Amino acid sequence: MLTAKLQSGEVISLAEKKNKRYLQNLREKEVFYCRTCGEEVLLKLGEKRIYHFAHLKDSSCTEEYERESEYHMTGKLKLYEWLKKQGLSVELECYYHEIKQRADIAFEYENQKYCIEFQCSTISDEVFRKRTKGYEKIAIEPIWILGGKNIQRKHRNKVSLTAFHYRFLKENRLRQFYLPAYCPQTNQYIQMDNVYTLSTRKAFCHFSISPLQKMKISDLLKPPIPKFTPIHDWTIELYRFKATLLGSPLHSHFLTELYANSINPYYLPPYVGIPLKGSLAIETPPLIWQTYIFIDHFHEQDRGKQIYFHDIYTTILKKQREGHIITRSLPTISRNMLPFVIEEYLEQLSMNGILKKIKNHHYKIDKSMKIANNMEEWVQAEKTFYQQFS
Ligand SMILES: [Zn+2]
Repeated sequence: MLTAKLQSGEVISLAEKKNKRYLQNLREKEVFYCRTCGEEVLLKLGEKRIYHFAHLKDSSCTEEYERESEYHMTGKLKLYEWLKKQGLSVELECYYHEIKQRADIAFEYENQKYCIEFQCSTISDEVFRKRTKGYEKIAIEPIWILGGKNIQRKHRNKVSLTAFHYRFLKENRLRQFYLPAYCPQTNQYIQMDNVYTLSTRKAFCHFSISPLQKMKISDLLKPPIPKFTPIHDWTIELYRFKATLLGSPLHSHFLTELYANSINPYYLPPYVGIPLKGSLAIETPPLIWQTYIFIDHFHEQDRGKQIYFHDIYTTILKKQREGHIITRSLPTISRNMLPFVIEEYLEQLSMNGILKKIKNHHYKIDKSMKIANNMEEWVQAEKTFYQQFS
């Protein structure tokens, strides 16, 4: 940690006091105490790590700061300095007695209190939720910033995301999702937005990367999100995904349903398995949950058939109860995302001419739902479908 208390109660912050001789002097005269547990801590002024305070070996401090890495401490310090340069009132390692939690950084902006948790190591969903709820209880908006080294970028717009990553999602005022990250080694702020989940792990997204010193506070709190849809990459990856599905014991229920309806997974229509922004709320791959909708409501149905949002939603809830659709835990998003995802899907289908919207939550089938007879037909159908995709 970077702050400690003196005997007098005065807080000493290593973000402000950096002179080694001054600190050596202080160390000779003073005893330092942990601001959370009150135990004595040592001031470390080595050359290898940044200056910091550390508990004694047998400490029982509830804060897990002993495992705090150099990466975490440096990041916390740099983010703190950046916020100070914005002219904001900022506090490093702010301890809240009411909830017994310590935030890495606390600040105020436009009459709203915020805190930053710069998280570089995996923590459980339970701890994440508990800490988030704690802050919300005392009207502080937490901003979880992911340690940049945790990003597994696979390609320009491709990333591997685990349950841990999805916990960091935030929404801007337009309800667009983004995932804030920061790397103290490169001093870059990294925003992942337009996250299109393809499978439990794989996703496409747009990376906005900028040096921290060029960032304004509004870029963190109210970022503009560019428009980005990775159609070409998506279709290629979806085809690969179909190949991995076949023979995977994980998806045997899905395959059984397909075969019971005599559907070859490769010939599923192009509007099954489409990229949607809300798909990240469902851990089950979009190809699978969209197929369940297809089988129950579209397959072999005539043009003109009425489609109601409520019926589709019921199908999804039933599949969820049976354990065939799993929603994703998103501790920082308070609304139930599931109805929004279904609505986004139906809206997209009506924009593509598959459905025709009659009124809110009410559509009718506007296209032949016939499955392709051969690969050639299928390729043509896919091409036509994505030409109209926006
Ligand atoms: Zn302590």
